[in-house]
Amino acid sequence: MSSASKSLLGGIEAGGTKFVLAVGYSPTEIIERHEIPTRVPATTLAQAGDWFEGQGTISSLGIASFGPVELDRSSPLWGHITNTPKPGWENCDLAGYFAERFGVPIGFDTDVNGAALAEFQHGAGKGASSLAYITVGTGIGGGLVLDGRAVHGAAHPEMGHIFPRRHEDDRDFKGICPHHGDCLEGLASGPAIEARWGASLSELPADHIAHEIIADYLTQLAHSLIAMTAVEMIVFGGGVMKTGGLLERVDRKASELGARYFPGGSKHKIVSPELGHNAGLTGALLLAAEV
Ligand code: ZN
Repeated sequence: MSSASKSLLGGIEAGGTKFVLAVGYSPTEIIERHEIPTRVPATTLAQAGDWFEGQGTISSLGIASFGPVELDRSSPLWGHITNTPKPGWENCDLAGYFAERFGVPIGFDTDVNGAALAEFQHGAGKGASSLAYITVGTGIGGGLVLDGRAVHGAAHPEMGHIFPRRHEDDRDFKGICPHHGDCLEGLASGPAIEARWGASLSELPADHIAHEIIADYLTQLAHSLIAMTAVEMIVFGGGVMKTGGLLERVDRKASELGARYFPGGSKHKIVSPELGHNAGLTGALLLAAEV
């Protein structure tokens, strides 16, 4: 088939600091990729729209967005970013802007659900029954794919906000989550690490206790996910996970905690993303392909 007769998909990975845009003929066939900084919606959405116009005629657009977002198609607020503290973005009608400007179907989900779908179909989860994608960076978020679909429930999971059991050498830190204090994000996100130890995890010496503490908390999320959903693959991405040895430590601790005791046994895997920095964008294109 010539490219002229194929449908061109548009994808947006909408993040708090940058929007990553792409067009492609399939989710894994990215033709052009472009990044713009996230400013106020009027500026950023117009810039994104202008870029897509310059790429040709798109047939559908997928958006994998930072949250919280409304995912209920029957809600008048579907496709909106809802109560974010990010200035200007509260109640932003992200999907509506592009639907109106391009008149094409819009696929819409969270950035982590997009990344989870992408890793499930085209990355670390190929051949697996189910997959969770966790990002550990400025915040901690997760998406879950079960039976081939991203789990939404009444909205979307916020698995970074579970309460881990406190590590015995980390009893005094109050945590930085504005909602919960010492939830997982309040204890193990990049800013929480900086708040305790004045440096990022990768800057701290390899024998620093922080490595053990952060691995302990992240392992508890993996353990809880397996216990509650029996998910087969858990993919840990995000800036903090680039710390040398962290993923291996989480994997080892999961075994020590008893993850292999679960009925899935050695089927449960804790791995790095295979799609790297394209996981979210590939997810956005998947949302465009499936809308
Ligand atoms: Zn929290």
